[in-house]
Amino acid sequence: MKNFALPLKFALPAAMALLTLGNASAQTQNFTRQDTLRGTITPERAWWDLTYYHLDISVNPADSSIHGKNTIRYQVLEPYQIMQIDLQPPMRMERVLQNGKQLNVRQEGNAYFVQLVEAQQKGAQNEVEVFYGGKPQVSKNPPWSGGITWKRDERGNPFVASSNQGAGASLWWPCKDHMYDEPDSMLMSVTVPKNLTDVSNGRLRGVDENPDGTRTFHWAVTNPINNYGVNINIGDYVHFGEKYQGEKGVLDCDYWVLRDNLEKAKVQFKDVRRTLDAFEHWFGPYPFYEDSYKLVEAPYLGMEHQSSVTYGNGYANGYRGRDLSGSGWGLKFDYIIIHETGHEWFANNITYKDVADMWIHESFTTYSEPLFVEYHYGKQAGSEYMIGIRQNIRNDRPIIGHYNVNKSGSGDMYPKGANMLHTLRQVVNDDEKWRGILRGLNRDFYHQTVTTEQIENYMSKHAGRDLSRFFDQYLRDTRIPALEYRLEKKKLSYRWTNAVGGFDMPVKVYLNGVEQWLEPTTDWKEIKKVKAGTKLTIDPNFYVQDGKEV
Ligand SMILES: [Zn+2]
Repeated sequence: MKNFALPLKFALPAAMALLTLGNASAQTQNFTRQDTLRGTITPERAWWDLTYYHLDISVNPADSSIHGKNTIRYQVLEPYQIMQIDLQPPMRMERVLQNGKQLNVRQEGNAYFVQLVEAQQKGAQNEVEVFYGGKPQVSKNPPWSGGITWKRDERGNPFVASSNQGAGASLWWPCKDHMYDEPDSMLMSVTVPKNLTDVSNGRLRGVDENPDGTRTFHWAVTNPINNYGVNINIGDYVHFGEKYQGEKGVLDCDYWVLRDNLEKAKVQFKDVRRTLDAFEHWFGPYPFYEDSYKLVEAPYLGMEHQSSVTYGNGYANGYRGRDLSGSGWGLKFDYIIIHETGHEWFANNITYKDVADMWIHESFTTYSEPLFVEYHYGKQAGSEYMIGIRQNIRNDRPIIGHYNVNKSGSGDMYPKGANMLHTLRQVVNDDEKWRGILRGLNRDFYHQTVTTEQIENYMSKHAGRDLSRFFDQYLRDTRIPALEYRLEKKKLSYRWTNAVGGFDMPVKVYLNGVEQWLEPTTDWKEIKKVKAGTKLTIDPNFYVQDGKEV
């Protein structure tokens, strides 16, 4: 469920993509029928509302295979007899049953169209069982390329994990692989070889010891979950945990790390508390108390798996030990803990319907980094970090991608999107009001999938000004506005150039060091009684070009 309005992607998973992007040809790209089947709310998807998954699988590291079934429960919104289920080769759908009867299925690439026999009556709660198996795609570069990672730890034990933002969960399990719809809850039963542990999403409900020596871990998620958030992590894990006293009560924090990393983790994971302190302040309560918070070691950098944040940053501060901002502040915290945890609010709580709107995840979450810095080190420090990450902006393509074809926009959604939000904060010019907007977003769009328009409208309404031109400028255009000005005869004339028509963002400047707000538009405006020779500088918190005297 989690979708209320019907209709209407890449994924730089997790953290960052800043440095690996480079697919600048998207504007001219030709999209295929497969892209449409993946990225559109097709008629074969629209008629049923997902309510529950039970993913019940065996994972075999010895031959890199997965076999099992997914039970899909749904409510009929409108009668229809064909259901689209997605599963990507080389995984194969073996059979689909409804009430024990096998159904005919037609495959078209990654999409399977299931012909239902029983009449689907409006309002009915029905279920299908989808049996499948095979050797799923191996991720070439996790988490940026989707698939399963089959590694070994230093002791030679299997160390296995899934990551699939963008490419889609249907890489390894059959599902409704579109972000608009989420199940209200989910059970994952994952069978693994002796001596290994699976850590998935939500809470561990039980472990079965099977006669063949394997064990089955049952993980239950009681909140809506987006499909790329669903994950398996299998290894020789050890566990430790703590209780966090947060805004909504006691939050169970559980940590699962490879046996040899326990002591390091006990030190490094202290950043979790600092992160929760900062983000509950700025964004409101952690959105999944019922499902707990987990940090799980993974054989790749990291990903925002819901209530099961995966971690592979080497137990060091920064982003793989580096400061993305160059300001020094980026080495004060563990980038992956902060960034991926930030996604619990912006990605898992508030989720894009279409990956074209991926900025909703990455811009806000990148923005969460300077907010963390500000919370712990002060406003000036946050500002320095924010301005520092501008060095990663490319202005190559718009931040918003292509709708209905599973295509995300520019990697600028990270540093530029965050700077857009920081700029907007300056415009709002009231920090408590601004914090109220951030918290309000998480309250009013709690556990929902949303569009850019919904976020824009919400922010306009609560900022008290029409921000449509502002968002057009920063989300849909690659130009960076420039303030053009001229001083003659004690008169200061100014306007925005290099901007979308009607761009009307107020800007804080300093005239000989004295603060002054200007309300420029794309037409010339003026103020009088300005001293000859006055020097104009723009507040550096605004992400605009330096002022140009003309
Ligand atoms: Zn991210």
